[in-house]
Amino acid sequence: MTSREAHTGGCQCGAVRFSVTKLGRGSVCYCRMCQKATAGLGGFYITAKEFAWTRGAPKYFVSSNLARRGFCGDCGTPLTFESGGTTDISIVAFDHPEAVPPEIQLAAEVRIPWGDHLAALPPRPSGDAAIAERFAQIVSYQHPDHDTTDWKVGHER
Ligand SMILES: [Zn+2]
Repeated sequence: MTSREAHTGGCQCGAVRFSVTKLGRGSVCYCRMCQKATAGLGGFYITAKEFAWTRGAPKYFVSSNLARRGFCGDCGTPLTFESGGTTDISIVAFDHPEAVPPEIQLAAEVRIPWGDHLAALPPRPSGDAAIAERFAQIVSYQHPDHDTTDWKVGHER
């Protein structure tokens, strides 16, 4: 039993869960492959030096001759970037992504320009009754941000 704090996380549906007991460096990579693989502005990853899959396991897309990318085969959540014997796990897939911040940016020269200005966009006004009513009807099938002992994926619950 290690005294290290475990950082847990997993995919949206809960079919794949992980626990990381030794972290490396976090990064954001803006390269086009990380954009596509995450369908986002870039890949937010942190090196998992010691970790285990605690429920299920990823499926893989071999994205180049040097790397493969793990994702949940049930819900599609991007989970890993793996290259050269190193596994990096998606920071956003952690239960507490705020605890594992990126420390360096990669391929910054090819980032999508409007990504630099998101914090300056006008926020949707709070207090909109129609939006609040719609949100109140949502029944989430997303796995919660903590480990569970008994979990059935999605609407099959
Ligand atoms: Zn899933």
